[in-house]
Amino acid sequence: MRFKRTAVDEFELIQTYFVSADEGSGVVTGIGDDGAVLQPELGREIVTVVDTLVGGTHFPDVTDAGDIGYRAVAVNLSDIAAMGARPRWMTLALTLPNADAGWVGRFAEGMRAAAAPHDVALVGGDTTSGDCLVVSVQITGDVEAGCALHRSGACVDDTIFVTGTFGDAAAGLGLLAAGTPNSYLSSRFLRPVARVEYGQQLVGCATAVIDVSDGLIGDLQKLLSASGVGGVIDLEKVPVSSELQAAFAPDEQRRFALSGGDDYELCFTAAAKNVPAAAGIAVTAIGTITREAGLVCRDHGAVVPYHDSGYRHFR
Ligand code: ADP
Ligand code: MG
Repeated sequence: MRFKRTAVDEFELIQTYFVSADEGSGVVTGIGDDGAVLQPELGREIVTVVDTLVGGTHFPDVTDAGDIGYRAVAVNLSDIAAMGARPRWMTLALTLPNADAGWVGRFAEGMRAAAAPHDVALVGGDTTSGDCLVVSVQITGDVEAGCALHRSGACVDDTIFVTGTFGDAAAGLGLLAAGTPNSYLSSRFLRPVARVEYGQQLVGCATAVIDVSDGLIGDLQKLLSASGVGGVIDLEKVPVSSELQAAFAPDEQRRFALSGGDDYELCFTAAAKNVPAAAGIAVTAIGTITREAGLVCRDHGAVVPYHDSGYRHFR
């Protein structure tokens, strides 16, 4: 794509900020040609995901470039994790209102910070100018053939588990937008840590997995309907961080935890005895899969109505 003449030109920008000396494993041809050429491993299937962040919609306009870059990669890593796959390569489509070199440098640094721990190489992309900032990252991963995890495999009597804690990111975003950031809660929004290793550990043991991006209740309902089953969860078991508890009243904690969104934790089902331990992450049982369709929420044993208010676009 041609780039409008601005402070730096497109070629210079890509060379300076996106080309890396270390091309990454399995990269036959990386940045610089019309397409990337990648070498899949024998016996493994390809898993590909893409996620777009729009300035002002998915993050406040004032968000630091490094955090935007980090988050754009992390949300994709989370989808890869939910498939039980190993992330390998990524591409970046970037639409910039202006090509400020400092901004792009911090953005690229944030992307690298999220990608480097998983050896994910940037192998191509597209750079354009436009009225508003749009960041699209696509990640390609792989998984042993036939072993990818899906939303659709939950079985009656499986236990429903979640990783980590819920509600931090939604609360953190609210505080950021209000101009009163809380460092722990806000960083859970700006720099979510995808459960990449744990997703791979779940291969062969989880019956169904989803990553929670749009709120726990709404995303669990997607898993249940994809699996053709129902579920019952105990709301008091949904884990919330001590930081969320310190900052908000119990009813607000619950609202953030159940429908807040942006958690990027995994919600999965498995026979209880099969669940692997996770290094440094809590894994909590919150409920059980049932035969009757639909999600039943209980609060200390009593059934309570819960109206999903998870985030949906175009609503
Ligand atoms: P074309 O005109 O063939 O689409 P471009 O001139 O847009 O190619 O891009 C040149 C090279 O730089 C390509 O290899 C492309 O994948 C890469 N590239 C462009 N933008 C980015 C970006 N934002 N991040 C990484 N690589 C990029
Ligand atoms: Mg071309």
